[in-house]
Amino acid sequence: MKIAMLARNAELYTHRRLKEAAEARGHQLDIINTLRCYMNIASRRPEVYYNGEKLVGYDAVIPRIGASVTFYGMAVLRQFEMQGVFPVNESVGIGRSRDKLRSMQLLARDGIGLPVTTFAHDPRQTDEVLKLAGGAPVVIKLLEGTQGIGVVLADTDRSAKSVVEAFRGAGVNILLQEFIKEAGGTDIRAIVVGGKVVAAMKRTGAEGEFRSNLHRGGSAQVIKLSPEERSTAIRSAKAMGLNVCGVDMLRSNHGPVVMEVNSSPGLEGVEKATGLDIATKIIEYIEKNAKPNATKTKGK
Ligand code: ADP
Ligand code: GLU
Repeated sequence: MKIAMLARNAELYTHRRLKEAAEARGHQLDIINTLRCYMNIASRRPEVYYNGEKLVGYDAVIPRIGASVTFYGMAVLRQFEMQGVFPVNESVGIGRSRDKLRSMQLLARDGIGLPVTTFAHDPRQTDEVLKLAGGAPVVIKLLEGTQGIGVVLADTDRSAKSVVEAFRGAGVNILLQEFIKEAGGTDIRAIVVGGKVVAAMKRTGAEGEFRSNLHRGGSAQVIKLSPEERSTAIRSAKAMGLNVCGVDMLRSNHGPVVMEVNSSPGLEGVEKATGLDIATKIIEYIEKNAKPNATKTKGK
């Protein structure tokens, strides 16, 4: 097969691993810098150009589009979808995953366990949404944050209100969320590939840190999921329409609750913690599913 991987940095662990795994199985994998692609949006002739050449003949495309290039990256991916190239994740699923509010609404619609989450646009409703979220301690999140940046724990209603005001003053959208204290600074990431959990790890925050992101100094260990956690991860991937994703959950008193579904999960932490070869699982998934025009949305 000839596979295109839309990524900005060829040297990242995950991107190197996917290339190695594809080549080890006899495929060609070209890393294409998303932001250097240009397009011709011609009637019934969707084209993508790169370094002066038209990209043709690809069987599959692996989108590894960073959060900061979502808008342009999804447009490039849609061009491939309209050509009938099989996308590991469709642009629509990626768009859903990049919007926390939209993701939570989709997960809620399918009855998936979530932390109590509230949202309001108008600052005059801050008291009400704080009350609805159960009051302090409460977690306040930037809708467009990643790697734990813009996730704040407020211990009192007063500090919650100041944080909300500060974020609002900066003109950003936020949501309020029940603080799952019993998770003890540990979260679970399940990697779903083609409707199956292929690996899971738990991540524990650095001392005194409630955020368990590895980027924030957290550490990762292999973990065995309960059947309920496993099915929550699989249902979340399905609700989002993602073939490959990382589902982040917390162990709460009321069962597993999903915090977010990541459409470009990093493989370094989870491969090192579990010793599993997830890159090869993703390539095998492509081998089984990459048929021309197999994409559901075709760029819609
Ligand atoms: P990001 O997308 O920026 O990683 P998350 O929503 O995943 O943000 O939050 C970062 C970390 O903060 C999580 O991995 C988790 O450890 C912790 N956390 C987030 N929400 C809650 C919550 N409602 N209760 C307890 N801990 C939380
Ligand atoms: N790779 C990062 C993670 O697994 C996030 C990538 C993204 O979707 O922007 O946490």
